[in-house]
Amino acid sequence: MLQNSDYPYLYETHLHTCTSSRCAKNTPIEMMKACKEAGYTGAIITEHNWYGNHCVDEELAWADWITVFCKSYDEAKIWGEENDFDVFFGYEAFYGGAEFLIYGVNKEWLIAHPEIKDASTSEQYKLIHEAGGIIVQAHPFREASYIPEVRLFPEWVDGVEGINAAHSNRKSGNAGHEQWDEKAIAYAKKHRLPMTAGSDVHSTNIFGGGMAFKRRLHSIQDFCKAIREDDYLLTNGDDWFNKQGENL
Ligand SMILES: [Zn+2]
Ligand SMILES: [Zn+2]
Repeated sequence: MLQNSDYPYLYETHLHTCTSSRCAKNTPIEMMKACKEAGYTGAIITEHNWYGNHCVDEELAWADWITVFCKSYDEAKIWGEENDFDVFFGYEAFYGGAEFLIYGVNKEWLIAHPEIKDASTSEQYKLIHEAGGIIVQAHPFREASYIPEVRLFPEWVDGVEGINAAHSNRKSGNAGHEQWDEKAIAYAKKHRLPMTAGSDVHSTNIFGGGMAFKRRLHSIQDFCKAIREDDYLLTNGDDWFNKQGENL
């Protein structure tokens, strides 16, 4: 695990648990413990949403579906409060292969805004912005069987996941795809969009990807603000990058 004395507060920004994500292996508490032991200050839970690879009962009505979907965060949050570990809420929205990390809304907002369910990418942008949240396109250049083609939405996002540690970290089992991150970084630069970094971690095999800040973050809203205003580092768990995505 990388530690940087100038940016001592490392946050995982892209994490799944088996409570809500079908492809994940470990429970929220197992994931939070593993992240804390690895040296993170906090983590943002970003489960696959209603059209993504989730494992929440499809038959539930919207409010009940969201309540069950958010259980992983609720459990993790309690553990975090008891263990001095910051746990923030997010989710990963699936749009036919393109995916967006949504930060800055919560369970109550989702329940009150069922129109988010079938929102287009532009409507999603409007709704999430009205709520004070931000949208980051996840791994925009990843190639995989579930992604039919690369689709980009520079006008409907606030940022780009420049580093997805699952593409390059030695422990990820999928290393050797640094070019997907290089393309994402170049794309973000071209459109002057801020970059994020996360591990897209699905088990307690922690890669150490994330974003390192000079200060501890107070909330998911504070994270959204920090992306816009703070200096920070990006990491895939093996190397550091500055906020422009340049390898340090
Ligand atoms: Zn997944
Ligand atoms: Zn993910």
